[in-house]
Amino acid sequence: PCAIMFLDLDGFKPVNDTFGHPKGDAVLKGVAQRLVKEVGDTGYVGRMGGDEFAIVIKDAHDRKVIENLADRLIQSVAQPYRIDKVEIRIGVSIGCAFGPIDGQSVDDLIQKADIALYQAKNQGRGTCCYFNAEMQSVAEHKLKIEQDLAHAIGAGQLRLLYQPLISAADQSLLGFEALVRWHHPTRGVVPPTEFIPIAEETGLIMNLGDWVIEEACRAASTWPEHISIAVNLSARQLGLPALPATVNAALSRYRIQANRLELEVTESVFLEDTAGSLDVLKRLRALGVGIALDDFGTGYSSLGYLNKAVFHKLKIDGSFVREASDNKETVAIIQSIVQLAKSFRMTVTAEGVETADDFTRMRDLGCHQIQGYLFGRPMDFDRATELVHGTQKKLTA
Ligand code: C2E
Ligand code: MG
Ligand code: MG
Repeated sequence: PCAIMFLDLDGFKPVNDTFGHPKGDAVLKGVAQRLVKEVGDTGYVGRMGGDEFAIVIKDAHDRKVIENLADRLIQSVAQPYRIDKVEIRIGVSIGCAFGPIDGQSVDDLIQKADIALYQAKNQGRGTCCYFNAEMQSVAEHKLKIEQDLAHAIGAGQLRLLYQPLISAADQSLLGFEALVRWHHPTRGVVPPTEFIPIAEETGLIMNLGDWVIEEACRAASTWPEHISIAVNLSARQLGLPALPATVNAALSRYRIQANRLELEVTESVFLEDTAGSLDVLKRLRALGVGIALDDFGTGYSSLGYLNKAVFHKLKIDGSFVREASDNKETVAIIQSIVQLAKSFRMTVTAEGVETADDFTRMRDLGCHQIQGYLFGRPMDFDRATELVHGTQKKLTA
């Protein structure tokens, strides 16, 4: 019985970007030394490339011993590295498979360890995951979705739904948020929470995102000028320096005033490559489009970036809105979010408003705009158009 471990460093790219490649190389050497020291003569350590390492343990009779080793590896790698007087910290995620139980051949075992590593990365890093059959079927499902998604755009399987945005003051219709759906030929309607993360991982989000911008602008061009349209952007799309040009092209193709378009991003934008993303956001803002901070309060809540003057709107996550009905602390959080937004002259939207009580509470707490099932679920283009033309009267709380 043997074990194979796949290791991938957490947060190595920022080290290279911040401290430069020579220091990045020094960190890799430091990691290698620590791995070799922990493994000793119980196995072999190799570098697969980049920030990936692999370890083969010759005798894995005792699972406990392997698990202890994995814990020690994680702790050891996480100790700070001192390189030319700077202190650098990184972490490591590990995927582990056991032979011959998990796989008979070397290739098979490597693949299983890789699947387990993927799981470890998703579990929030700094952990070790051990391969099991369930992971295998999750990985196969993902691969299938990935392959199907690549064809979805060309095959016309994507549609946008539109959810109304309402003025808290007089309950009039202000605009819509475009929400994508995938009409899969055999799986039926797949929600974005299932396929957007896969699209992000594979890079398909670039094409998908362009399609959403195009389609949302086309819809908005058929509506009166006071109706705005909001589009969700993934963090990865902001890595594209060409994004402002794409947005601008769609605006002029459909003759839409820039201030009718609003782009929604989440706090995750600031987790990676902050400088580049911020630059793209600023260039988008310079076009005159609005930038909203979506799902506010659920992310990493480093408030420093509110200062960067790119956001015109803050959307309070629906989980807070619903919790506020029976939780005083949540009300206090919402109060301070509204305060904060006002001092930055940002509009505040309450998402996920489901009941008349939610509505009055959010309005009285100072939210300017309301979105949620109470005023309308995401609806198709025709129903949205009906709502725009004259059925506003039916919108009552
Ligand atoms: P989001 O941008 O925060 O969108 C709001 C989500 O809350 C939508 O889910 C909407 O249907 C749901 N919602 C609205 N009102 C209520 C309510 O009263 N109660 C409850 N329980 N839920 C409500 P949906 O459409 O499944 O979208 C989920 C997420 O997927 C979105 O969250 C957004 O982050 C992402 N997404 C959707 N479309 C796109 C897209 O075109 N591009 C990208 N990058 N992400 C998208
Ligand atoms: Mg949104
Ligand atoms: Mg949201």
